[in-house]
Amino acid sequence: MPATSLSLVKPTGSPTLGNLLGALRPMAAAQDAADDPADCFYGVADLHALTVPHDPTELRLRSREVATLLLAVGLDRSTLFVQSRVPAHRELAYLLECVATTGELSRMIQFKEKGRPGSRASLYTYPVLMAADILLHRPVRVPVGDDQRQHVELARDLATRFNAAYGPVLVVPEMATPPAAARVMDLQDPTAKMGKSGTDARSGTAGVVHVLDGPDVVRRKIARAVTDGDTAPDAVRADRSTKPGVTNLLEVLVACGGSADGIATYGALKAAVTDAVVATLEPVQRRYAELTGDPAHVDAVYAAGEARCREVTAPVLAAVESALGLG
Ligand code: AMP
Repeated sequence: MPATSLSLVKPTGSPTLGNLLGALRPMAAAQDAADDPADCFYGVADLHALTVPHDPTELRLRSREVATLLLAVGLDRSTLFVQSRVPAHRELAYLLECVATTGELSRMIQFKEKGRPGSRASLYTYPVLMAADILLHRPVRVPVGDDQRQHVELARDLATRFNAAYGPVLVVPEMATPPAAARVMDLQDPTAKMGKSGTDARSGTAGVVHVLDGPDVVRRKIARAVTDGDTAPDAVRADRSTKPGVTNLLEVLVACGGSADGIATYGALKAAVTDAVVATLEPVQRRYAELTGDPAHVDAVYAAGEARCREVTAPVLAAVESALGLG
């Protein structure tokens, strides 16, 4: 049986408004629309945090933060897991490395931008692990932000190539991005994606709203968001190429349930965005605080999810091995 949807979040920093609007909320919507919500598989991609020099203590803390947050956004009926606890993910990754080519991995954006002779080899191979994460669960849909397009394309290519060479074992999934806020931009540098530690922007973390930021911090960051010098009566309008900052604020406003109707100044726009973001984050933060007070519950949810993952992925891995002539 194919899974309905699958998506993972990397525990490399505190999750952002971009993660929430681009992925976590669409993941919850997929769960709510599923015939059987337990067929939605969502996880903490801790193995993907190892592609750059990392601190093990920090990784453990961040993994726990993301695990708790997946529950806090309402994914309590999905199957939740920590990737490293389901060894089939890394077992399938090697087998898919035998299907992927060095040419296609050399074209992956992360490696092209960040790869150096001293980089970890996993910075080169991780897209195959990502393909394994997806294909192992045979999802119909992969709800992710727009920045994941190249990764999902690779997973689709590898599945198609594997099936053509060895038989129809893998399901070729569809990527699903939300209609608004599929790529939330950094508030200080609206030409760069809002990344967890501001690493995608040149401006540090001032332009990054974290899901766990309190109302005062959110207000300050949005008040300082970069706009432009346009003072025309129609200055509050979307235009990605000439007004990236204003366009980003408008997208966030709409994705958080607000409306720009009647808003004529950047000050009023920022006030409306602040109210909408604070109202969106408040219930998540409240539930997060409750869950941190009940760690045994979080542990139990993940233990059950990981047991189910091991059960449903074993036959997929076995089918891949058999098709390849192993065993
Ligand atoms: P990551 O934090 O890279 O593991 O991303 C987890 C999920 O959040 C993926 O589906 C990303 O596509 C999505 N995501 C990350 N940053 C953004 C952003 N700035 N805007 C929209 N979606 C994002």
